Amino acid sequence: MAKRSIIKINEEKCNGCGLCIPNCKEGALQIIGGKARLVSDVFCDGLGACLGHCPEGAIAIGKTRQKCNKSAFRSFEGARRA
Ligand code: SF4
Repeated sequence: MAKRSIIKINEEKCNGCGLCIPNCKEGALQIIGGKARLVSDVFCDGLGACLGHCPEGAIAIGKTRQKCNKSAFRSFEGARRA
């Protein structure tokens, strides 16, 4: 399986400000334990819309073999809001 792009968060650089959260339209990011984290790799589309909003330069683009699955995100969001 080919690799695709995905964001990688440098935990040491992340200050937990949360500025990246609203800039991820897929809802793939949450602050957990004071740090930004991917809720699930399958939610991240790898386009990096959040990158330019991080004042610490803590987000970069990496590679994964995990497929993006936006329908999984919609199911997750539906369950979360119910
Ligand atoms: S914008 Fe950067 S520093 Fe702020 S929570 Fe997101 S990754 Fe961390």
